[in-house]
Amino acid sequence: MRMLLVEDETKVSELVARALRAERYAVDVAVDGPSGWEMAEAFNYDLIIVDLMLPGFGGGELLRRIRRKDQQVPILILTARDATAEKVANFEAGADDYLTKPFAFAELMMRVKALLRRGPVTRASVLRVADLEVDRLSQQVRRAGRKIELTPKEYALLEYLATNPGRVLSRTMIIEHVWDQSFEGLTNIVDVYVRHLRSKMDDPFPVKLIRTVRGVGYGLGESPEA
Ligand code: CA
Repeated sequence: MRMLLVEDETKVSELVARALRAERYAVDVAVDGPSGWEMAEAFNYDLIIVDLMLPGFGGGELLRRIRRKDQQVPILILTARDATAEKVANFEAGADDYLTKPFAFAELMMRVKALLRRGPVTRASVLRVADLEVDRLSQQVRRAGRKIELTPKEYALLEYLATNPGRVLSRTMIIEHVWDQSFEGLTNIVDVYVRHLRSKMDDPFPVKLIRTVRGVGYGLGESPEA
């Protein structure tokens, strides 16, 4: 696994690179936007870690450039800022995950591993599963051409399921992806939202798309026996 780390604070980049190399990852380091872009253009990395505040041009611009070239590579943003609007903008521009400084190396490692494990990601703006369409730009959902109104959380849950069609997702995975770090409720929140979602997008239709895998979690897709 080869990674690119774009970070201008030498101390941070040395520590992060050392921690990643200790996990046997190959790590290239760039110290500003332009050199990060040069390297991202030249090599196919398995993961790119980008600091937001960089000389030359910032991590946001770098992220946009990388996404124009490569839709697949997982990108983790590092930043001292914690502005929600900016986070949203960067996620829309194609960031996969976010880590606010100062962070614990254990958390960085956990996120790096999660991103690598996830493998290639679909970034198509319209996700299709059977007759279901999830438009990620307009956040509109249709089934058999009929528009389905969802609350923002229901939408987020459905989008997560639709980006992993045919995969069984555990309640913990769903909570991690759909709810934020501050969420400390019960895991049955997932069951509650799945119930809401079903009543809107499955119950009115003959073919059910949300599958319950007892003791494991949920998945989206036409069940083989249906
Ligand atoms: Ca910086």
